[in-house]
Amino acid sequence: MKQNEILLNTLPNGKEAHKNGKHTIIAEHIENLGDEHIGTSYDTPLRPDAFALSDKEKIDKIALHFRQIMETLGLDLTDDSLSGTPQRVAKMYVKEIFSGLNPANRPDIKLFDNKYRYNEMLVEKDISFFSSCEHHFVPIIGKAHVAYISSGKVIGLSKINRIVQHYAKRPQVQERLTVQIANDLKETLQTQDIAVIIDAKHLCVSMRGVEDSTSATVTAHYSGKFEQNEVREQFLKYLNL
Ligand SMILES: [Zn+2]
Repeated sequence: MKQNEILLNTLPNGKEAHKNGKHTIIAEHIENLGDEHIGTSYDTPLRPDAFALSDKEKIDKIALHFRQIMETLGLDLTDDSLSGTPQRVAKMYVKEIFSGLNPANRPDIKLFDNKYRYNEMLVEKDISFFSSCEHHFVPIIGKAHVAYISSGKVIGLSKINRIVQHYAKRPQVQERLTVQIANDLKETLQTQDIAVIIDAKHLCVSMRGVEDSTSATVTAHYSGKFEQNEVREQFLKYLNL
């Protein structure tokens, strides 16, 4: 089977991380790995006991630890403005920005028959998302452009957005987010003819580290018919890229 092409066009340091689906990483230092924004796997690395605790238990536990982080930083949590922060952050982690870790939160997707026999590619572009860099826990802000060619089944357009949001709501690296969205769509739509492009800004590059506020990272995943140049070009034309 041909490997899917995963292009990481611009890294903060200008290096190309992956080409033609090769995914070999030699990590000399964890810190380098983080600063180069390279992930180690297409599956989110989860512990076997990831869902042993209820959401409520997770929130209580995280709140406790976040309180300690704030106190260690020297903040006075008896201050009215800060006292509720550990609980707020914990709830935001579990119920909002990292809710996509739990497969139970994946949106229910209903498939419809492709009654109109629309055999052209369907493009959903400019899907805004917010994710979080798993190396620094600061935001990744971006847009996803998705296309598929129906194999006889279609889904509601808003469901494509929901799939993007689901995988964005995890600690992520951009290449993994791209592939996770593509793999879900392949399974859901029962087709290999999927294209996903993600164009995103990593706040860990702009607010810290090299403090570059203008660079963006583009990742792409093409499979099935989108591996053909002319199909891919047609997709890119729809995006005006
Ligand atoms: Zn980062």
